[in-house]
Amino acid sequence: MAPTPKECDYLVIGGGSGGLASARRASGMYGAKVIAIEANRLGGTCVNVGCVPKKITWAAADISQTIKHSAKAYGFHVEETAPFDWRSFKEKRDAYIRRLNGIYEKNLHNDKVEYLHGFASFADPHTVKVTLDDKSEVDIKAKQILVAVGGHPNFPSVEGAELGITSDGFFEIDKQPKKVAVVGAGYIAVEMAGMFHALGTETHLFIRHDTFLRTFDPMIQEKVTAEYERQGIILHKQSSQSKLEDIGNGWKRLHYKDQSGEGTLEVDCCLWAIGRSPEIEKLNLDVTKVALNEKGHIKADEYQNTNIDHIFALGDVCDRGFELTPVAIAAGRRLADRLFGGQPDAHLDYSNIPSVVFAHPEVGSIGMTEPEARKAFGDENIKIYNSSFTAMYYAMMEPEEKGPTSYKLICANKEEKVVGMHIMGIGSSEILQGFGVAIKMGATKADFDRCVAIHPTSAEELVTMR
Ligand SMILES: Cc1cc2nc3c(=O)[nH]c(=O)nc-3n(C[C@H](O)[C@H](O)[C@H](O)COP(=O)(O)OP(=O)(O)OC[C@H]3O[C@@H](n4cnc5c(N)ncnc54)[C@H](O)[C@@H]3O)c2cc1C
Repeated sequence: MAPTPKECDYLVIGGGSGGLASARRASGMYGAKVIAIEANRLGGTCVNVGCVPKKITWAAADISQTIKHSAKAYGFHVEETAPFDWRSFKEKRDAYIRRLNGIYEKNLHNDKVEYLHGFASFADPHTVKVTLDDKSEVDIKAKQILVAVGGHPNFPSVEGAELGITSDGFFEIDKQPKKVAVVGAGYIAVEMAGMFHALGTETHLFIRHDTFLRTFDPMIQEKVTAEYERQGIILHKQSSQSKLEDIGNGWKRLHYKDQSGEGTLEVDCCLWAIGRSPEIEKLNLDVTKVALNEKGHIKADEYQNTNIDHIFALGDVCDRGFELTPVAIAAGRRLADRLFGGQPDAHLDYSNIPSVVFAHPEVGSIGMTEPEARKAFGDENIKIYNSSFTAMYYAMMEPEEKGPTSYKLICANKEEKVVGMHIMGIGSSEILQGFGVAIKMGATKADFDRCVAIHPTSAEELVTMR
């Protein structure tokens, strides 16, 4: 006889940013009986192969730039007697993340969420089968089910692509590559190329068009692309790749075409950062009849409802357009508020979500791009404010060492409501958060101007634009 299935109010598949946030709120705050399933490491993409190890590596890259480019200009005599110790840096970063994994498990325990480590797949619309680590299986029947399984990085269909790595593999590198090819134009490609370069790896970035970060405002695309070239990252524009081959001793040969014609490049690391797909292949979603979009993402509305009453989805597995940790967390918490907290209208407002790129320099962006705003409001109802300047940080440096800072405000209609803000330069990621609050509140240009500047900062330019 088959064992009696476990039962719960809320079954959460995926112990990443969104799943954990929703499970903990439903159980810890509202007392629902919650079971959470995670197949890999708790914390999901963000903690293990995303935001957290990325930001730590970005900090290392930033320190490297400070030592190489800034320290001397300020009168320091810093001698690098040995190259960056990538291996011990990685070990330390891994240990930090292991600590976080433990903290996440403790948090689930504190909030009385039952946690099973195993792989979940649907047996029927209300039942999920979990294959545990010892290969035994347990069935769970749940009144409500949240699918928060995230996504995975894609490999291209290029011969020998498997000889390269994806962003997951970036965090497994334990020896600094000498020469790297990064393929892709999204924020992950741009961030990783920036980090490799700043840490001293010869970096080639292959992009399909003439600029990268193509979903960002044109000002960001053009200025950051130009800045990467100025810094010495070798850009292969209008490029495509046909083959990656093993040439021994850990080196590969990439066959490509770019604006200068056909070519090959020998590298000891080829990183594909060409996009991500939802992690639904083995979930057996078919039995639930949950609807997917053409790219295989689960269709979910802003309440995280799918087309099936008791099944919800959020985060990277969905088609809501923002693959960011705080978006998954906020959606997860609001969903728990709605299902178990007596707040029938609780949902995430997906408008004006700030996002940043930890490029060199950082980028921050919120609201509409200029082309989007022109389309939405009409050219005659849009006013653009631009400012490009040299941050005071560079005061002591030679002209060729000075990085750019550029800000753009996009305002709409007579009242000049700020409908878009795009910034690049030192500190942009930290600057954006506070301005995000103002823009979410509906700030106008006059509101910005009423705020007294903080001097001397870069951000003061945003409240003094003419
Ligand atoms: C390189 C990189 C850098 C990033 N940097 C940032 C950043 O700086 N800022 C930011 O906000 N966002 C960043 N992100 C995006 C962010 O990590 C994701 O948006 C976020 O993690 C999505 O959360 P989620 O809950 O939807 O999914 P995830 O965090 O991916 O969690 C899903 C979990 O489900 C588990 N799972 C999948 N299938 C099953 C199954 N069948 N059974 C059991 N468990 C399963 C997976 O193992 C995973 O742990 C980055 C992503 C990457 C790849």
